[in-house]
Amino acid sequence: MKAARIREYKKPLVFEDIPIPDIQADEVLVKVEACGMCRSDVLLVDGFFQNYANIAPPVIPGHEITGTIHRIGSVIPKAAGLSEGDHVVVAPGWGDGVCRHCQVGDTHICPNVRWPGFGTYGGFAEYIPVPARYVIKVANHLKFEELAPLTDAGLTPYRGIKKIRDAGGLGPDRVVGVFGIGGLGTYAVQYAKLLGAGATVVAFARNPEKLAVAKQYGADSIVDIKGKSASDVGKELKKTTGQDKLDAIIDCAGAPEMMQLGFALLAISGHYA
Ligand SMILES: [Zn+2]
Repeated sequence: MKAARIREYKKPLVFEDIPIPDIQADEVLVKVEACGMCRSDVLLVDGFFQNYANIAPPVIPGHEITGTIHRIGSVIPKAAGLSEGDHVVVAPGWGDGVCRHCQVGDTHICPNVRWPGFGTYGGFAEYIPVPARYVIKVANHLKFEELAPLTDAGLTPYRGIKKIRDAGGLGPDRVVGVFGIGGLGTYAVQYAKLLGAGATVVAFARNPEKLAVAKQYGADSIVDIKGKSASDVGKELKKTTGQDKLDAIIDCAGAPEMMQLGFALLAISGHYA
């Protein structure tokens, strides 16, 4: 199969022919139709993760994977409902399934987690073996290239919003702030609108162009925070929403100054994800 591999860190990927991988009895072989390119793929190629986990090349990057089921492992029960040719997305962050994080669905923070695209096999290839419980069937009319980034860039803010929802932080009388409008933030705005149970969604960023994108993706209002104090931002928030505090914040930036602003704007019973 064709694969784009890291042969040496800080060097361009090498496009080459390698054998189609075998699968374990509990895996499926996914024929990759589309794979997103995440910032962490670029960081991986650039050797950024060598200080944390020195993964020996060759490595096939790519963890935002969609495709079709090409082959099914021998112990996967019929009840799993998987058939060859099914359109699937691959949920990344493969946990061991038994630790306390896995048991509540947080497989991505499992101490024994494995990630596609951070080892021998990844999405920048024609095929990848995937544990059967980490493929999710999707409708055939959905576009592979639109589904791919949902598996990671979309999933990250989705997880945050789910936690806020479970904590009771969403509803028609709530104001939710999305901080940082990049790849994740634009998904966060859309998920907050879809899953917010009528909550008002406000996007916060320093860049007017990004704020315009947030508006386009459904933000009820936008606040440009560039050069403004927390109390100025609070006043602006009050003008547009009627309250100067946020009931929930989805922080897609994680920068210290954004967090400071976030906590200054967070209501006394607020939620921060
Ligand atoms: Zn686990």
